[in-house]
Amino acid sequence: MNYDFDLFVIGGGSGGISTARRAAEYGAKVGLAEMGRLGGTCVNVGCIPKKLMVYAASFPSIFKESEGYGWSPVNSSLNWSHLVTVVNQEVTRLNGIYLKMIDNSKVTLFREKARFLDEHTVEVGSSQIKAERILIAVGGHPVRPDIPGIEHTVVSDDLFTLPEQPKRIVILGGGYIGVEFACIFNGLGTEVTQIIRQEKILRGFDEDIRTEIQEGMGRSGIRMFTSTCPTLIEKTDDGLKLTMAKGETSEIIVADAIGLAATGRIPNIANLGLELAGVEIKNGAIAVNAESQTTQPHIYAVGDCTNRINLTPVAIGEGRALADTVFGGKPRLMSHQNVPSAVFTQPEAATVGLTEAQAREEYGDDVKIYRAKFRPLYHTVSGGEDKTMMKLVVQQSTTKVLGAHMVGEHAAEIIQGVAIAIKMGALKADFDATVGIHPSAAEEFVTMR
Ligand code: NDP
Repeated sequence: MNYDFDLFVIGGGSGGISTARRAAEYGAKVGLAEMGRLGGTCVNVGCIPKKLMVYAASFPSIFKESEGYGWSPVNSSLNWSHLVTVVNQEVTRLNGIYLKMIDNSKVTLFREKARFLDEHTVEVGSSQIKAERILIAVGGHPVRPDIPGIEHTVVSDDLFTLPEQPKRIVILGGGYIGVEFACIFNGLGTEVTQIIRQEKILRGFDEDIRTEIQEGMGRSGIRMFTSTCPTLIEKTDDGLKLTMAKGETSEIIVADAIGLAATGRIPNIANLGLELAGVEIKNGAIAVNAESQTTQPHIYAVGDCTNRINLTPVAIGEGRALADTVFGGKPRLMSHQNVPSAVFTQPEAATVGLTEAQAREEYGDDVKIYRAKFRPLYHTVSGGEDKTMMKLVVQQSTTKVLGAHMVGEHAAEIIQGVAIAIKMGALKADFDATVGIHPSAAEEFVTMR
């Protein structure tokens, strides 16, 4: 059969673009369809604009802490529209860079919606394109829970273009997005209420991380309702009225401006024509094997639409492994083990490897925990109350380090380095034999006894 492309990619986010470029580098003829802004969730409504807002939100506490060092009080207020403008300018700049990269790599870009017509044919706008191999990299989108009145809430995508800073915000959900935006808005001066249905935020993280962040958020003034479920949301003249149930009791709160539903994300797989291509869906996501092949071996899927580990660098890693294997003659698998991640809360947290609970489940009593909690040097003078917590999860018999967890300033930067050691299979003795950098918080990872 004659094909228009060796590889056709549906979706111009992190996974799609990195695969397309790598395949084109190997000489493949590649087409890519993206009807929205290039860069996907991460660039447009995720990691990048979020992290810029995290930076913006960090200044008030720095101003306050500077007084401990002798600076006179800083009286500063936020120009919300300036913040939104510069954040979106940066996003637009990145969209342009992605466009240039696609252009330079000779990938043919289609700014239209694509859907399968059969297992080798994709309809893109009004054209029909035949490709030998097809990659689905369509990402995901936020999902709202089924609560009466939920349509009155916004989702994380909407937060980067709000015309005004909300005076108050109610956040539903205690995952990454819920806690990060709780801290962002709190730092920016919005009154934040968070409603979570568990006792603790960040289910799946190490218990110490969950506890430390939650306590830190409480100290910084975020009001949290735990083990609580919203049951009704109404729009009134006074603002958003929320009815919540906790066990037998119910409570009503009124938020001035907005409610944020941060209750998870689901793959963008509706109306893709997957059934026409024979691509199977499992648990709401595209089913793939370790090589990122779907149930049609020449159709692949990477990133959030496969719901493996929904992080930008994972999508990129999956895509590049696929391009190296299929087009580069360098077969390899993307490893989903020991993937580090960070939560950009205040205090920040980062993690790699097994949690204590996961290690105990796998290794029983053969687990030793090293844990340190201390006041960082900076706060001895700043007057800040946040403590730093570091934890190593070690297999006792082999002394292999199974996991590292941290809550505190620069946790993401520190854990990134620790992740290399863990990925290489470092033993506790390797950590002990490493000389610390003094004075730093990170040195605690090599001095724990
Ligand atoms: P998560 O799945 O992480 O969290 C969803 C939260 O909403 C949980 O607290 C969940 O509670 C709660 N929830 C779900 N349904 C309901 C309901 N019906 N009523 C009340 N509460 C509900 O999703 P997020 O939206 O926070 O994030 C999505 C993904 O985005 C993450 O998995 C992550 O991969 C990625 N991400 C990564 C970031 C980073 O790396 N820093 C930042 C932001 C996003 P329960 O725990 O009980 O299920």
